[in-house]
Amino acid sequence: MIATDPLWVPTRCAGLARLADFLPRAGRDYADRRNFDFGPADRSNVSGLSPYLRHRLVTEQEVVQAVIERHGVRVAEKFLAETCWRTYWKGWLEQRPGVWSSYRSEVRAGLDSLDHDSSLRDRFEATTTGHSGIECVDLWTRELVEHGYLHNHARMWFASLWIFTLKLPWALGADFFLRHLIDGDPASNTLSWRWVAGLQTKGKTYRASPENIARFTEGRIQPREAFASHAEPVEGSPIPPIRPLPAAERFDPRQPFALPLTEEDLAIEALEISAKSPVEVAGMLANDRSELWAGAPARDFVRGALGDALERAGSWFGVPGVNLDRAAGEAIVAWATGLNVKQVITPFTPVGPAREQLNRNEAMLKKAGIRLIQVRRGWDDELWPHATAGYFGFKKNLEPSLARLGVFAGSR
Ligand SMILES: Cc1cc2nc3c(=O)[nH]c(=O)nc-3n(C[C@H](O)[C@H](O)[C@H](O)COP(=O)(O)OP(=O)(O)OC[C@H]3O[C@@H](n4cnc5c(N)ncnc54)[C@H](O)[C@@H]3O)c2cc1C
Repeated sequence: MIATDPLWVPTRCAGLARLADFLPRAGRDYADRRNFDFGPADRSNVSGLSPYLRHRLVTEQEVVQAVIERHGVRVAEKFLAETCWRTYWKGWLEQRPGVWSSYRSEVRAGLDSLDHDSSLRDRFEATTTGHSGIECVDLWTRELVEHGYLHNHARMWFASLWIFTLKLPWALGADFFLRHLIDGDPASNTLSWRWVAGLQTKGKTYRASPENIARFTEGRIQPREAFASHAEPVEGSPIPPIRPLPAAERFDPRQPFALPLTEEDLAIEALEISAKSPVEVAGMLANDRSELWAGAPARDFVRGALGDALERAGSWFGVPGVNLDRAAGEAIVAWATGLNVKQVITPFTPVGPAREQLNRNEAMLKKAGIRLIQVRRGWDDELWPHATAGYFGFKKNLEPSLARLGVFAGSR
C-alpha cells in the first residue's frame, strides 16, 4: 500500500486536474508572481505540474497546448518558456551524456571524501538532517524531506548556500535533491545545480542573498546568518562535444510486441504505438537514483505513477499489466520470452538511471534474440536537436517548432 501525499496524487487524472485548475493563472498572474515562495501552504502562484511532467503522466505538449489555447503565446510567454526549459535541459543532456556520467563519478568521489574527511562528513550530515546552522536551509531541508518538493527559488537559494556558504560538494547536493524530489530529474536537477555552481554557463554562478530571500518570501524568511559574499565558479571538467541524437527507432507494427514502461514516460494514451495493442504491459522501476536511500515521497510517487500507468494501459489496450519491480535484465528476458515476442517496445528513455538499467537489459534481450525499440515522441524529435547551446538560441526556434508540431497556429 502506497501512502500518497494528498497534495501530490501520482495519477494522470490528478495531473490533468491540476492543469485545469492552474490554467486561468498561467498567463500574467504567473509572470508577475511565479518567483515568490509563499511556503508549502500556498502554491497558487506556480503550477505544481513538475512531478506530472517529469514522469510524463501529463506531457509538455498537452500543457503547452492547453495554455496557448487559453491565453495565447504572448500572454503566456513566461509560463511557456519555463515549461520548455525542461525540454531544453533534456535535449541538452541527451546530446552530452558524458555530463551525466561525470556527475555520477563526482557523487561517488563526494561519498568517498565523506569517509576520509570527518569535518566534511559532520557538515554533510548536519545539513541533510536539518541542522546546518542556517535557519532557512534547515527549513527547506525539512520541507524537501517531508513533501518532496521545493519552490524553484528555494531550490536556487538552497543550492547556492550548500555550495558557497556551507562549502559542500555540489554533486552531493544534487544527489540529495534527486533522492528526495518527487520531480527528481536527471537533466533538470543536474544541470540546474551545475548552473548554480558555475559549471554550466562559464564563469556565471548564482549567489543567494538574505535580501533576495526576504523579498521573495515576503518577509516569511529573514536570514540573519552570514552568507558567502563571493561565489567563485566550481572547477570541473570541460563540457564534452555534442553527440548527435540517435536516429528515431521504428518498430514493425505487424509483429506482436510487449510494452515495458519506465518512470520516464507514462502518458501511454498519446504514444505513437497507441493504436496497436501489445501482448502485455509491464512496469519497471529503475530504483537507482542514488547509492544512498531515496526519500519516501519520491519513492511513493514513482511507484504510484507506475501503478497508475499500468492500470490505464490495461484498460487502454485491453491487455494485462504486470509489475516487474526491480526490472533486472533476467526478469525482462524471462517475461518477453514467456510471451513469445521478438520485439519489446518502450517509450524513449532519456539519459539517467532508467536508461542505465535499460542499456543493461537491452544487451540481455539481444542475446535472447529480442529487439528493444525505444519510441521517441514527436515533441522530443522536434525540440531536442535545438538544445545545442544556450537557452536563448533554443527559445528562438520554439514558435516555428510548436507550429510544426501543430500546437501553435500563428502569432497571437
Ligand atoms: C537546483 C535546482 C534543482 C532542480 N531540480 C529539478 C528536478 O529535479 N526536477 C524538475 O522537474 N525540476 C527541477 N528544477 C526546476 C524547477 O525548480 C522545477 O521544475 C519547478 O520548481 C517545479 O515547480 P512547478 O511545477 O510549480 O513550476 P512552475 O513554475 O509552475 O513551472 C512550470 C513547469 O516548467 C518547468 N520548469 C520551471 N522552472 C524550470 C527550471 N528552472 N528548469 C527546468 N524546468 C522548469 C517545470 O516542468 C514546471 O512544472 C530545479 C531547479 C533548481 C534551481
